[in-house]
Amino acid sequence: MAYVFSPAPVTSVPVVGVAEQFPVRRIYCIGRNYEAHAREMGGDPNREAPFFFGKPADAVVVVPEGTVGEFRYPSESKDVHHEIELVVALSKGGSNIPVHEALEHVFGYAVGLDMTRRDLQGEAKKAGRPWDVAKGFDGSAPMGPIYRAADIGHPRSGAIWLKVAGQEAQRGDLSELIWSVAETIAHLSRFFELKAGDLIFSGTPSGVGPVQRGQLLEGGVAGVGELKLNVS
Ligand code: MN
Repeated sequence: MAYVFSPAPVTSVPVVGVAEQFPVRRIYCIGRNYEAHAREMGGDPNREAPFFFGKPADAVVVVPEGTVGEFRYPSESKDVHHEIELVVALSKGGSNIPVHEALEHVFGYAVGLDMTRRDLQGEAKKAGRPWDVAKGFDGSAPMGPIYRAADIGHPRSGAIWLKVAGQEAQRGDLSELIWSVAETIAHLSRFFELKAGDLIFSGTPSGVGPVQRGQLLEGGVAGVGELKLNVS
């Protein structure tokens, strides 16, 4: 195949324990998936149907294990928020995947941040406009390496947390997910044909808030590693 210019490189994420990288196809995100966060965002904490939004694959910023990454404060916002999340990486796709088969599609898990221009999201919500500029900006999806489910299993409980400049900002437990990873995959696959390489950001616990240049963000998910970034 000849192209009129060189195609963009494939975004890829390191996998703990193997030399090969995980090639990213799409990034799906679920909104309001922890009760306390749904409440802090003014939502109904009852179990309403999940909703989804996307980020471009190249919004991923890989932070290799044991290193401190960089989050560049984006343009056109004065209120950029952190959302620490468990990221699910798929190695198998499908449509209308049943809940009881959903976890067979999971390659592994990582720690990620769904960085959000909250001011622009608020304006978009008010005007009934899409969230892309709020959620899908360049560098909006920092994440650590992927731990294979073959090595760590499928975490169903355990702490998820984030410290901002040394102070705890977010803390929750995976057991508080309103829609489990399996249920999220099943539901999402009704709307999109999922494929190998898809990432799903599974939602954030309460305590979201602004970040400032010069702050260190340190987050983690029990059994799925930690993520450190400087805001620049
Ligand atoms: Mn989120």
